[in-house]
Amino acid sequence: MAADSPIPVSIEFFPPKTPEGVDKLRMVRHALYALQPEFCSVTFGAGGSTQEGTFNTVRDILAEGVSAASHLSCIGATRDGVRGQLATLKTMGVKRLVALRGDLPSGYGAGGEFQYASDLVAFIRAETGDDFHIEVAAYPEIHPQAKSPESDLKAFAAKAQAGANSAITQYFYNSDAYFRFVEDADALGVQVPVVPGIMPITSSTQLMRFSDACGAEIPRWIRLRLQGYGDDSASIKAFGLDVVTDLCEQLRAGGAPALHFYSMNQSAATLEICQRLGLI
Ligand code: FAD
Repeated sequence: MAADSPIPVSIEFFPPKTPEGVDKLRMVRHALYALQPEFCSVTFGAGGSTQEGTFNTVRDILAEGVSAASHLSCIGATRDGVRGQLATLKTMGVKRLVALRGDLPSGYGAGGEFQYASDLVAFIRAETGDDFHIEVAAYPEIHPQAKSPESDLKAFAAKAQAGANSAITQYFYNSDAYFRFVEDADALGVQVPVVPGIMPITSSTQLMRFSDACGAEIPRWIRLRLQGYGDDSASIKAFGLDVVTDLCEQLRAGGAPALHFYSMNQSAATLEICQRLGLI
């Protein structure tokens, strides 16, 4: 693929907790709409903790004339509860979901009527037919709770078999892990597009904290370089832009179907990376 060929982009936000956060996110979205995203998605706190904020943000995006995807997590949820959420989302005009298991904070018993995301995907299909395009999560570096890489790949295949249309990966900084995952999934007969999730690097401590929690590996050379910059946030940002733009270029050249940006409700890094990729 040509170095500067267009590639579709989608962007993820989380629901703001304060009125100021809502206003700030509106400005961030307007800046990011310069990328003409295929869709914008909004995360959903496990256990339904952010349902109102998620749905309100999704409503705002739709009102701005942009396609919006609501994340939906099933851990601790009941069938009746999810049925109600699907009805609300349908009434709102949502056409795309990101169906997840979710992680309950420690101290919460799992409970609920769904065990895995594949159960949620099957339920959404049974209840709503083809009303929604369903995205699911994929883990090129293996989900932290997986029994083995093979069982994790099978769990991914189960989500596709249950009716998922496409997948978004956990973020990673090693493109080989992504390409190997796509090949392995293909060998298992899984045909759904797997879109790499891209996490811009803007802060060293934030990245380390997230990555420890979600099992994303920060390669040693990146970790050491970031540590070496200490509090020098300008150098961290400049290095992060170079690293993540290179990663996106490798993914595009290797045939990734799209790029999904974890914006962290910020616009600058995603815009700069896309500018360097020639996508604006
Ligand atoms: P699953 O696919 O159910 O997998 C969970 C674990 O169970 C894996 O280890 C898998 O190997 C194993 N497993 C699955 N099926 C089986 C089976 N049949 N037998 C044995 N083992 C099995 N979290 C949120 O709370 N809200 C969000 O909005 C959110 N958005 C996300 C978006 C993306 C793109 C990604 C990549 C993650 C997101 N997450 C979100 C995090 C996600 O909820 C966690 O990673 C969670 O731990 C797993 O969710 P899952 O849907 O991948 O679960």
